Parts: sequence; C-alpha cells; structure tokens
Amino acid sequence: MTHQPRRQSSQLTFNHYTSLFTYKYKAHAFVMCVKGDWAFLRSAFLMTSGWSSEAVCWMCSATKGSAGPEMAMTNLSGDWLDTMFEQDPWLTPPALSLLQGFHIKMVAPDTLHCWHIGHGRDFLASVIVHLAEAGAFGDGGVPLALKEATRSLRAYAKAHKLQQVKVPLSRESLEWHAGVYPHLNISKACQVGVVHKWLAHLAETGLIADSLIATAVWSSHMFLDTVVGGSNFLTQEAASRAHAFGMLYLLSAVRLSTTALEARQLRWFIRPKFHMFHHIVLGVQHRASKRNPHLDAVWMDEDFVGKAMKLLRIIHPAQRSTRILQRYLVGLPGKLC
Ligand SMILES: [Zn+2]
Repeated sequence: MTHQPRRQSSQLTFNHYTSLFTYKYKAHAFVMCVKGDWAFLRSAFLMTSGWSSEAVCWMCSATKGSAGPEMAMTNLSGDWLDTMFEQDPWLTPPALSLLQGFHIKMVAPDTLHCWHIGHGRDFLASVIVHLAEAGAFGDGGVPLALKEATRSLRAYAKAHKLQQVKVPLSRESLEWHAGVYPHLNISKACQVGVVHKWLAHLAETGLIADSLIATAVWSSHMFLDTVVGGSNFLTQEAASRAHAFGMLYLLSAVRLSTTALEARQLRWFIRPKFHMFHHIVLGVQHRASKRNPHLDAVWMDEDFVGKAMKLLRIIHPAQRSTRILQRYLVGLPGKLC
C-alpha cells in the first residue's frame, strides 16, 4: 500500500498513517503456524483425513477403529503414536505447503476448537446430566435440578466476576434427549469456560461424589488453567504439570466412555476432536521449544474476523480490502515501538 487514505477520522490516525507511509519498511514474513477451524485446515491443505473419514488425523495414522485397536484414536498408547508426521496428509501438495520453511507440524490444533467448541462441550454436558440424575442439585426431578444448577452456575459466575451464561441449563441446552449424546449447546465459547470453572469448583467442594468424574473435571480444568496462565514458552516444570493433568484427563475420559458404552448408556461421547485434544496434550511435553499451545488458539483472530465483517457490511465493495488493511494498520505503530 503506497497511498495515504483520503479521509482520516482523527489526528492520531492520520499521524499513524503518515509515519507508516513516510518511512520505508522492509517487511519479512515467515510461516510460524497455520491455525483455524478444522474445516478450513482440511480444505486449505487438501487433507484426505478428517472427522468424517475413517482416518481422522493429519498428524498421525489414527483411525476410528477400522485398522484395529492399536491404531484406534481412543487407544491413548496405541501404535499410531509411532506414526506421527510420517506421511503427508494430502495426495497433491497444496499451495501453502510450498511456502519456504513450511512443515506440517506448523498446522496446529487449538484448545478453542478442540475443547471450547469441540470435545469439551460433550464432556461438560455429560457431567451436568450425571449430577442432575445423581441428585446433586436436589431430588425434586430433572426440571427442578436443572433450575438449581442454573442458579448455582450464575451465582458462581457473579461471585467470581465471570461472564454470565444467559442460556439456562435445560434439556434443550444440554441436548439431553433419548437416543443422542448430551452436548452443551450454548452459543459462546468463553461461556463454556465458565461452566468448566464452575464444575471444577463443585469437584473441589466435594459435590461431585463420583471420584472418576471429579478427577476428569479437575484435571481438564488444571490443564487449561496451566496453559492459559503460562508464559509464551512454558517452563519445563509447567510443561510437565500440564502434560500430567492432560493425560490424567484423557485416561479418565476414556474410562468413563468405555464404562458407559458397556452399560449401553449414551454418555461421555468421544469424537475426533478428542484425538486432536490429545495431540495438544502431547505437544506440551514434546515440543522442543515448549511453545505454549494456548498461543495456537484463535480467540483474538475470531474477534478480528467478527470486527472485520462488521466493517465489510458498510464499505463499498471496491474499497473493502484497502479499508480493512487500513483499520488493521491503525494499531500497528504501537506494535513496532
Ligand atoms: Zn493424530
């Protein structure tokens, strides 16, 4: 971009643009990480594997079970662990793979998509259903139990200054119906985090009597708490802690799911995103750099896309790309200081 914009909304903005266009910057770009939702990654990298395929993963040869128990994604110590990054996940190299310095390891699963809008919603919904059935929220029947659960959740959020979950916990919001697995159906991913914190609080206060469920809730919360609160590059101690919490959760979740399956109960659903979450846990320990996997989450990116989309709706199509880049550049000088 070499021209100055015709109109400026403020002197501050004008100065920023002036400094950017007065001095010549030589930009160097390197691929550090490619992240986004699974549908985007699958499309951008022409992946032959995916959630709807028997081979689920772009990083290893794990399957849903057709290649035997040793290659099953639910086998936490299966042979698929020895196949990581052995094969390209595409038949024809996609354009992005031709970028200088690119390696498939740079395509990262992230906690937002794998937990907050993925497997975490299955797990947390099953916990709430279990507690309601077990009488943890009173024994007046499911509707009253879920009403009490909602009251408890909101009181916890208010006491800890967390975002309120406006959607009440109900059979609808938990997708608690015959013939389907429960799934926490609330719109905002950050509110899934609030529900998770609340359940971890209940586990710590002893309201979750089942020790395996309490362990799963607590360990998953501790894993996310460790990485979210960690530095950009985790210390060895923090990485080891996060890995231990993550593996404890994965083991507990598989055991819960297996027990429910044997009892022919639709609880503790394990979908392919569970396997991606497993890779995040493995990466905490195995990444040589100890780069925090929380950096791969796309919370801010999704925010930017939302803001950009609002702008796009009010900008003439001929100027959209330029205007979006200009708005982005407003914040750039501060980053370059
Ligand atoms: Zn895998």
